[in-house]
Amino acid sequence: MQNSHPLHVYKFGGASVKDAAAIRNLRHIVQTTGVGRQLLIVVSAMGKTTNALEDLFQLAYSGQEYGEKLAQLTAFHQGVARELFAGADDPQVQELLVQLQDRLATLTPHDDYDKQYDQIVSFGELLATRIVARALDAKWLDCRPLLRTDHTWREGRLDWPTTERNLRAALPSLLQQGSVVTQGFLGGTPSGHTTTLGREGSDYTAAILAYCLDAAAVTIWKDVAGLLNADPKVFRDTVRYPEVSYQETIEMAYYGASVIHPKTIKPLAVRQIPLLVKSFLDPTAEGTKIHNCRHSLLVPAYIRKTGQCLVSFESKDLTFISEENLEVIFGALAQVRLKIHLMQNSAISFSVCTDFSAYRLEKLLGLLREQFSIHYNTGLDLYTIKNYNAASIRRLTEDRELLLEQRTRQTFQFVCRTDTHEHLR
Ligand code: ASP
Ligand code: MG
Repeated sequence: MQNSHPLHVYKFGGASVKDAAAIRNLRHIVQTTGVGRQLLIVVSAMGKTTNALEDLFQLAYSGQEYGEKLAQLTAFHQGVARELFAGADDPQVQELLVQLQDRLATLTPHDDYDKQYDQIVSFGELLATRIVARALDAKWLDCRPLLRTDHTWREGRLDWPTTERNLRAALPSLLQQGSVVTQGFLGGTPSGHTTTLGREGSDYTAAILAYCLDAAAVTIWKDVAGLLNADPKVFRDTVRYPEVSYQETIEMAYYGASVIHPKTIKPLAVRQIPLLVKSFLDPTAEGTKIHNCRHSLLVPAYIRKTGQCLVSFESKDLTFISEENLEVIFGALAQVRLKIHLMQNSAISFSVCTDFSAYRLEKLLGLLREQFSIHYNTGLDLYTIKNYNAASIRRLTEDRELLLEQRTRQTFQFVCRTDTHEHLR
């Protein structure tokens, strides 16, 4: 018999599964809002686990001592499992922890850095989903054989037709039997290796699943009231947008609004699947609905990207920065996988603002040092004001030294040093 209940994809991020109490709250949300729905539940790594795994990986890869960090991560997951499951260890969690330990012990500095990163960092989602699936008494699904990607480690590019075929073959019958819990952020290559989809990629996973299975809606459960015009940890007087178009949301995410992963919106827009952003602390509150709608100009959105660096290239012979020079610079940036967030050129120099990564920057310098003199500043932030006005620009730029600024019709962006004293702006 066809189950006529509509399919909803729920996504729970790290904060919503940060400890046993959070997972009980998740269970409450699923039980109260999931009535009359088929639920496919996407879960991220618990709390700050992905950062911890990145640190662990970094230490292990570079041959440093990581035992203490591993012990912390192990104790944390065991502790949550014991708290939820009557004081006993969970066998599946235990097994994963042993696998993680083995993998760390066999890392070699000769193997591809990014490939090994994926094999390690993916444990966060595997562990979290084991715990959440059991807490919900739901089915646990390993998404890796289904979400097919290429070999672009740390940013796996999806093979859409294969993924859609896989999901349509596997999921409907599984969902008939009850709720299904699966990992955000992960995919798999044809050769069976794990890939990750880029930091904060679990939102994207939810959109991929919804697209391929033609879900009725996606709900992202967050620790904020919905899509806000700014991060309340950084800015005061934030405002919730009740309703936003896909287009507007894509732009905000592109500039770095941390609320939704930038790749999330397009698949949903293509199949006209609404995206609800709701608070896991107040699940009955309205939140934000992102869908195909018209609305008047939104209040200015403030977006901060931290950990930026500004790299300037000058041609050594004081010739102009030409198309040929730019081609070389862009090629090198692509090769070391540094994304340009903002760029500007003048007669003899060209500057880009990118995420700071010592490793990638070093590779970039290696490629370009001969042809250009290169200067760079680190410890910077990139601010974007979308739908700016004079007051909003004043609010952010007052008493700051701007290293670079740029304005288009709708956005005002600038780069400045990271504030040493964090206070709400
Ligand atoms: N756990 C991953 C991260 O922290 C993916 C996600 O949370 O969306 O980046
Ligand atoms: Mg997260």
